Amino acid sequence: MEEWIEQLQNSINTLDRLEKVIHVTERERQAIESLQTKWGTTPYFASLMDPDDPACPIRRQVIPSFKEKENRYGIKDYLIFKENRANGENRPDSIARQYEDRVAFTVTDMCANYCRHCFRKELVVDRELTLRFDVDEGLQWIREHVEIRDVLITGGDPFILSDDKIEYLIRKLREIPHLQMIRFGTRTPIVLPQRITPGLMKVLEGFHRVPVWVNTQCNHAREITEKTAQAVYRLLRCGVNVGNQAVLLKGINDDMESFQTLHKKLLSVRIRPYYVFYCEPAPGIDHFRTPVEKGAQLIRDGLRGHTTGLAQPMYVIATNIGKIPLMPDYYIVEKNAGEYVLRNYKGQLTTLPNIPE
Ligand code: SF4
Repeated sequence: MEEWIEQLQNSINTLDRLEKVIHVTERERQAIESLQTKWGTTPYFASLMDPDDPACPIRRQVIPSFKEKENRYGIKDYLIFKENRANGENRPDSIARQYEDRVAFTVTDMCANYCRHCFRKELVVDRELTLRFDVDEGLQWIREHVEIRDVLITGGDPFILSDDKIEYLIRKLREIPHLQMIRFGTRTPIVLPQRITPGLMKVLEGFHRVPVWVNTQCNHAREITEKTAQAVYRLLRCGVNVGNQAVLLKGINDDMESFQTLHKKLLSVRIRPYYVFYCEPAPGIDHFRTPVEKGAQLIRDGLRGHTTGLAQPMYVIATNIGKIPLMPDYYIVEKNAGEYVLRNYKGQLTTLPNIPE
């Protein structure tokens, strides 16, 4: 049996299994026993948890918490709102749309790791929302909508599907003449790097008119190992670029050192930092959310100018009307008829002529 399947079959999703990996606190035990929620991770990702520290950044992404029952700011029926599922456009459940020329195509609700901060929690983790994942129905809709250029295949985690299913999806999408790119959102390079097998590489490799891109989600430097590096390298060998979409998470990566180390380490394993998302107002994840300005401050004080431009993600909030950048905006200090006054990352000032249009 392939190792990635074994990993999934031995998912750490019971108290007994978890206790073999970490020292479970009383509070964690009670949360696991009483909350109605899907949870679990791979033995590989679980092995990266600190067995003695309940505040371990990986542990907090994996183990349910009573804080998920507190919901002061989360929007009820968040996915319906966020993915414009009630706006009257006739679309299959599998197709979510915020833009004219691109859609998210949800093909499964299964994941290798059930992230406690997931913005699709209602669907994937708490299972309060049920959608129909009819792949052929979704493909047909895309075929009929000639304005769609770019499809993001998402879930759940689409790389949990078999090689055959992934091959079918890619092949069918590539047959659609108006399609120009296919993207996968998958956490497998981080939580299940064993998934990038020779079989999957065969499906992904080769030169094609319609390229495949992968974006993963890594939120803390401790999630990056030699296995991550190998998985990413394999994807790159197939001509598949790998970007990161981190989520800004309170107590996990919202301090300068964690934030900076994460972005430097991503590049060391060839993952390009692409986005840092503000933690969305989905229900039950208030405890992960920071003030909005936090991400911009971290980029200003920890990344911009402090490390290579390749390590600069775009800080955004994903909303029902698309992504809105929340980047630091302190660079232009002043503008007058003759010049701009600009500030750099060290606070030093310089000027640039203001050229009239
Ligand atoms: S892998 Fe993605 S979809 Fe699955 S629980 Fe984590 S954030 Fe949600």
